[in-house]
Amino acid sequence: MTLAELQELERDALMATYARNPVEFVRGEGTRLWDDDGNEYLDFLTGISVAQLGHCHPRVVEALREQAGRLMHVGNLFYTEPGMRLAKRLADLSLGGRVFLCNSGAEAIECALKLARKRRQGGDFVVVEGGFHGRTMGALSATPQESKQAPFAPLVPGFRVVPRDDAGALAAAVDQHTAAVLLEPIQGESGIHPLDPDVLDAAREACDRHGALLILDEIQCGMGRTGTLWAHEQLGVTPDVMTVAKGLGGGLPVGACVAGPGAASVLEPGDHGSTFAGGPVIAAAANAVLDVVTEDGFLDGVRERGDLLTAGLRGLGLEPRGRGLMVGFDLPDAPEVARRLLLEQLLVVHATGPGTLRMLPPLTVTGDEIDDAVTRLGAGLG
Ligand SMILES: *Cc1c(COP(=O)(O)O)cnc(C)c1O
Repeated sequence: MTLAELQELERDALMATYARNPVEFVRGEGTRLWDDDGNEYLDFLTGISVAQLGHCHPRVVEALREQAGRLMHVGNLFYTEPGMRLAKRLADLSLGGRVFLCNSGAEAIECALKLARKRRQGGDFVVVEGGFHGRTMGALSATPQESKQAPFAPLVPGFRVVPRDDAGALAAAVDQHTAAVLLEPIQGESGIHPLDPDVLDAAREACDRHGALLILDEIQCGMGRTGTLWAHEQLGVTPDVMTVAKGLGGGLPVGACVAGPGAASVLEPGDHGSTFAGGPVIAAAANAVLDVVTEDGFLDGVRERGDLLTAGLRGLGLEPRGRGLMVGFDLPDAPEVARRLLLEQLLVVHATGPGTLRMLPPLTVTGDEIDDAVTRLGAGLG
């Protein structure tokens, strides 16, 4: 099918929820993507931090092929090994405790919210401006953006919003009725904004004082993206609950809500569930991603290449924010620049708003590919 035919199909058959770029991709390998005309692109977006090891990483493909050819689904009324192993590894690599496996970021957030509400019944949630936690009704209620929320009111009640970089306001919003404080260690969708460490400290302290849970949303910044397995490791704050998704499956839909020991037993039989969750195929893929990301030296390489990317961007006169390979910078007309970079420079990046470009290359990106991307960016900025 031609691109024009696909666009017609989209108009006819798909709800108009996405503003797609006029490119059809047909193949991917590592940091490279190819369109239907055979043009080769550099992917510095990875489907918004999903293809964490690049496209079609051989270890992920091999794990998938093997599992898909053996058993795809039996559901959660029975045992299969890959999901159980995945849960154990995620808990051991983070908070300890227990894990609920699911299929997306929003679903991981829903689990965290339900867990916190059940633990402190009727309790409120505290969230910060600019936060993004997903599109389902609960996750959307935790996402204080007027344009995203307004058409869907009334939302889930009980969410209090405080300014992003105001530790005092956050601390003041937490009391004995607070079920949880929910934060991204580095806000992704708002344009790559690392949370002020004072705010995170204040959140931890306020949660401890009032017996509320601190939930950190690592859906975008986790899984090695910032050069440590979890972004919060660099901030010296340990949450009670953590949400993971995006890069976890290396391109497949899988999420997880990890509850540390203090919150691990809140959800009981009948409280929560999800038909597809923890299935052996996606869990096999996630286990393969974890194998690679936890190899000796892998995350050191992410930090080194993150420094290389940041230095390259500074060399273009830009002022990058972020950590590791999660980088954003401000520039005028970002959506137009992103479109030009895609169509003219064959560099895939993304505008998170009118004034911010975001780069989330695969963690396996090479130094040469970073140099190449910086060159293309320089040419595209003209
Ligand atoms: C993408 C994202 C979500 C939502 O994940 P979905 O898989 O799209 O539901 C939640 N939180 C953060 C920080 C995200 O980046």
